[in-house]
Amino acid sequence: MGLRRFIQASYFQCARTSGILKHVRYKPPSLVQWRYSGSSLYKAVIFDMGGVLLPSPYRVAVEWEVRNCIPPGTIKQALISGGENRPWMRYMRGELTSAEFLQEFGHQCSEIVSQANLSVPVDSFLSDLTSSQMSKQLPIMTEALECIRAEGLKTAVLSNNFYLHSGVSFLPLDRSQFDVIESCREGICKPDPRIYTLCLERLGVQPKESIFLDDIGQNLKAAAQLGIKTVKVDDPEAALKELESCLGFPLQGFVPHTRLVRPTMEIPKDPLQKYLEEVLGGWTTGPLILRQFSHGQSNPTYYIKFGDRHLVLRKKPPGNLLPTAHAVEREYRVLKALAEAGVPVPKVLALCEDSSIIGTPFYLMEYCSGHIYKDVSLPGLDPGQRRAIYMAMNKVLCKIHRVDLKAAGLEDYGKHGNYVQRQVQTWTKQYRATETHTIPTMERLIEWLPLHLPGNQKTTVVHGDFRLDNLIFHPEGPEVLAVLDWELSTLGDPISDVAYNCMAHYMPSDLDILKGLKDCDVTELGIPTAEEYFQMYCEHMGIPPIENWNFYMAFSFFRVAAILQGVYKRSLTGQASSAAAESSGKQVELMANLAWDFATKEGFRVFKECSAAKPLARPYSTWTRNGAFSRRNYVTMAPSSPAHISKAHLILSPDGLPGRAQDLYHKLRRFMEIHIYPAEQVLRVHQVSQSRWTPHPLIEELKDKAKSEGLWNLFLPVESDPEVKYGAGLTNQEFSHLCELMGTSLFAPEIFNCSPPDTGNMEVLVRYGTEEQKERWLQPLLDGKIRSCFAMTEPQVASSDATNIESSVVEEKGFYILNGHKWWISAGHGEIFFENVRVPKENILLGPGRGFEIAQGRLGPGRIHHCMRLVGYSERALALMKERVTSRVAFGKPLAEQGTILEDIAKSRAEIEQARLLVLKAALLMDTAGNKAAALEIAMIKMVAPLMALRVIDRAIQAFGAAGLSNDYPLAQFFAWARALRLADGPDEVHRTAVAKLELKR
Ligand SMILES: Cc1cc2nc3c(=O)[nH]c(=O)nc-3n(C[C@H](O)[C@H](O)[C@H](O)COP(=O)(O)OP(=O)(O)OC[C@H]3O[C@@H](n4cnc5c(N)ncnc54)[C@H](O)[C@@H]3O)c2cc1C
Repeated sequence: MGLRRFIQASYFQCARTSGILKHVRYKPPSLVQWRYSGSSLYKAVIFDMGGVLLPSPYRVAVEWEVRNCIPPGTIKQALISGGENRPWMRYMRGELTSAEFLQEFGHQCSEIVSQANLSVPVDSFLSDLTSSQMSKQLPIMTEALECIRAEGLKTAVLSNNFYLHSGVSFLPLDRSQFDVIESCREGICKPDPRIYTLCLERLGVQPKESIFLDDIGQNLKAAAQLGIKTVKVDDPEAALKELESCLGFPLQGFVPHTRLVRPTMEIPKDPLQKYLEEVLGGWTTGPLILRQFSHGQSNPTYYIKFGDRHLVLRKKPPGNLLPTAHAVEREYRVLKALAEAGVPVPKVLALCEDSSIIGTPFYLMEYCSGHIYKDVSLPGLDPGQRRAIYMAMNKVLCKIHRVDLKAAGLEDYGKHGNYVQRQVQTWTKQYRATETHTIPTMERLIEWLPLHLPGNQKTTVVHGDFRLDNLIFHPEGPEVLAVLDWELSTLGDPISDVAYNCMAHYMPSDLDILKGLKDCDVTELGIPTAEEYFQMYCEHMGIPPIENWNFYMAFSFFRVAAILQGVYKRSLTGQASSAAAESSGKQVELMANLAWDFATKEGFRVFKECSAAKPLARPYSTWTRNGAFSRRNYVTMAPSSPAHISKAHLILSPDGLPGRAQDLYHKLRRFMEIHIYPAEQVLRVHQVSQSRWTPHPLIEELKDKAKSEGLWNLFLPVESDPEVKYGAGLTNQEFSHLCELMGTSLFAPEIFNCSPPDTGNMEVLVRYGTEEQKERWLQPLLDGKIRSCFAMTEPQVASSDATNIESSVVEEKGFYILNGHKWWISAGHGEIFFENVRVPKENILLGPGRGFEIAQGRLGPGRIHHCMRLVGYSERALALMKERVTSRVAFGKPLAEQGTILEDIAKSRAEIEQARLLVLKAALLMDTAGNKAAALEIAMIKMVAPLMALRVIDRAIQAFGAAGLSNDYPLAQFFAWARALRLADGPDEVHRTAVAKLELKR
């Protein structure tokens, strides 16, 4: 699909005055013979104000002198004579207040008339000069300005002006049309060359690239001396003629949002005129005037004035096009059908599929006049008017969505069903085709969106680009006269139009592609919030509230991000069709982030909802040392859920895992029972033997076995490895159950290549490594051939605070030189000195200064694996304890019958369950809402899990008696590890602080 312009001029008549749109009447251009190449020698036109844009002050003076019986010429003489320090000049430089000026000026005039008894009432002259009648910009000048700006040139007012009594400077112009230089503010005035230089600087042009218009010779002379082209204004009309010949284009016949047709966009006039005569009837004739709408990036659109008819022509671009792109035939078809169905759209007149007329197919429609609101905050309207405009927009959208497809003959206008899914695929493909660099948020969205697609999508006509500035409103009230720009229309899910329509609510107001409402208080403005707007839509349509509208918002922003990426790519390769392309393309990440914010919100909604879902009873089993299974009832969701549904529900037991994950779980369990638990004693003995620094051969043997059974690298979350290239493609929640099981033996994680710190390091390499880096380090790690470490802690500083780190990295001739002292570096927990260690530059990940980015990524799933395993330690400890207390007798009865033991078992069970739920919650949140959104849960479980495990294991040791401390059972080692984990992953206190801070922010 061709690129959609994001801001597109609309093909109808509108203008804006003081922020409120006013109806403009068309004035036929008199100069139809112009052929403008689109590149003038000049880049800016600078206007004087009085005598150029406004009537001349000398003219005001003449009339005033007659009325007040003052000798003619008195005022003019006072204005021009007396050198640099005459009152008028000082007044214009802001050196005199208006009261001071009037006093001195009055005195000067009295001297000129040489009649001591004649007082000159100069205050009434100043009133006349600034009266509203004299302060009206000349209409021919306004039109000339519009023409100049439409061709892309800059305009400025370089005015000698003054402060009024009120302290406001006298400048009765629409400032938005100019870069304004006011003498009284600058403290310098014409003909001082500095003020011209200042003006040129602000315009960013050279003297020879600008033209200056003034009515005073000495001002023009000073400008000419700087190299500025000058035009003397005695008669404004004659001056504009001269300006036209300098610029090379006409300064009349302006039509809003249009410009002269560029040579590359010209269409043959004679055949078009013949065609128009046929279509419109022979009586319509006259000169054919063509202008081009300014910003259309997709289908070129023209304004046509022919006889008394004002029309719009929309055509395909020239050249070879994809068969489905730029389908003006479709636009014509839908416009015709919608008009008949009562939807306000421009009236189409004819479709011409014969390319021999103007070179491509095109269609004609009526030029529709009315108001367009370009600014979504609707400046200049009151809150009630604003609300009415938004309501009208909402209603017209409902009208579109209510069109009876069959009656309108639009049943085959697009595919039925799965619209959003198809759109996500299309825009993902588009994005991939134009990707210039990896944008992590886009990657997350590409993965997240297909997993959260809405069910039960309706099929209606969808506009595809429904925004306020695609609507023409009635000049008198909030009635939509026409909905424009149907290029993206098709059949689809109507909610996508509503969401797209609400995007402006979340965009910042300073965005150049589209001014948003994010920084505005919409309620105060009278504009409905996005939620209200959705609600309003549901009420108008008579449908229940849209619960997953955050999904649709995420999808809308994703789509815009993908579109902008295309614009950006084209801007890089120099094929962009608009100057705005490059800057808009750079907004891709901003749009992706907005999309992800909504994805997170939707994740939370799904998460909250799943806790309310109806639970089903499922059996759950725990393991004891001898393989005796104790069964208890547990609740979870249906086990047959497909993978993406499982992501959105809390899976409380392994039996609730989806098919493949469950198969892996059972396989893993069998492997543990057959190969690992029986090997534990041998391995424990090895750990205290002389050869403990050499890996036991059994470990390597079991690693090969695990690999051959597919129980390998299960840890890598599908989020980091969406194509399941490296890992098993499990979600965090699915892996939680498997990781807990691995945690029941201290030797298991390494055997399945799921042990830290390799897991975190492998994930980092998957996410951020280059292909070379992956080949060199990731592959051997994935194969279990090498081990890795994470060296951060330093003996001489408190390393729980990373900002204390003292080690240094210095860049030197293609190498990074490392110096530092580290300790407690797993695996081996070694103490390491880095002394001038030379690391080739190409070994750095991502690049210098990007460590924080990586650390954030690493702080994801890997960091709660400890917690999953700690639940495993605790389950095993409790299982061992139960077995022990039922078989051992003290004081005449089994230990299990002692009240304190029962109490301990009860406490342990309850505490394990609490911690597991929190682990699963954190994992599910990471899956549904992302690692960042799960920050609180991650910090909480890190704070909770080691302490819980310590208590449970401690009770088990106690119940075992001295044997609990021996090497015959894993309890002592579990205890030692759980204790270490109160430090190893950052001290408890740091996690507690994080939790408290996040809690205080909530
Ligand atoms: C078994 C094990 C394995 C390890 N593996 C690695 C590894 O692979 N790589 C690595 O780099 N490091 C590793 N470490 C080190 C571990 O990460 C650090 O010990 C830990 O970050 C604490 O740093 P520190 O020892 O310098 O303690 P310090 O920063 O000196 O802190 C000491 C104590 O001060 C208190 N404290 C600190 N901050 C706060 C606070 N904000 N509020 C209140 N109290 C606070 C806490 O009680 C803390 O325990 C491992 C440690 C162990 C025990």
